[in-house]
Amino acid sequence: MRIDVLTIFPDWFDGPLRTSLLARAVEQHALDLRVHDLRDWTTDRHRSVDAAPYGGGAGMVMRADVWLAACEAVWNDLRPQDTAGAQHPPPEARYRAGGERPRTVLLTPRGRPLTQALAGELAAEPRLTLLCGRYEGIDERVHQLAATDEISIGDYVLMGGEVAAAVVIEAVTRLLPGVVGNEESPTDESFTSGLLEYPQYTRPAQLRGHAVPEVLTSGDHGAVERWRREQAEELTRRRRPDLLDGDEGHG
Ligand code: SAM
Repeated sequence: MRIDVLTIFPDWFDGPLRTSLLARAVEQHALDLRVHDLRDWTTDRHRSVDAAPYGGGAGMVMRADVWLAACEAVWNDLRPQDTAGAQHPPPEARYRAGGERPRTVLLTPRGRPLTQALAGELAAEPRLTLLCGRYEGIDERVHQLAATDEISIGDYVLMGGEVAAAVVIEAVTRLLPGVVGNEESPTDESFTSGLLEYPQYTRPAQLRGHAVPEVLTSGDHGAVERWRREQAEELTRRRRPDLLDGDEGHG
């Protein structure tokens, strides 16, 4: 799968990209992750991406002209030097703002909440483009003309979309074939079954007066299965009853 990220802090992604399963997914070519600097599509000396909001108010808003030029260039694999400041992509370009475009996610607290079901839907796409906002957010015309989806990672406000984009990348990448070593684990965990996951234990069996539940060392696979199911149901009832009502949107 290919994921393009547009951000004013491309270096932010260096850490996550060099570590853990994400780095391995890139090495194994399961994930083709390309991070682009939005400022490459600015036209002024200061490389500015923001301006004061029309109608007044606090803070700055990210400019739609820069964002749309950047999106169209990235979608069509065009170089910044050929497209910065362009009003439209070249006539032969396949993708354009307001028209046909790859699935493009604008990260925003106003978006649809990210769920495991949505991550699964995104993981089935051949290609995603993630747009990371900063300041007070992005001009509404980018929401209308570039985004195909607006996604929120939770009901709180971050300083920028980079953390949210990283969350989407991790949630999606671990669902790609071959990325998580044990092929079974993505289907047997929290949310996938509509329940939170049951408690897990490993060695040692005794620790500071706390023993592993006997059923797990009994060798009775049926009993283990039943215990796990009961635990998962009980935990979900106590902590996330909304999941049992089907509010989470497993589809
Ligand atoms: N003024 C905006 C509002 O009230 O909705 C918040 C802007 S926030 C300071 C800057 C950027 O961080 C946003 O454009 C968005 O890209 C990102 N962001 C903040 N919180 C987020 C969340 N919960 N989910 C996804 N993206 C978020």
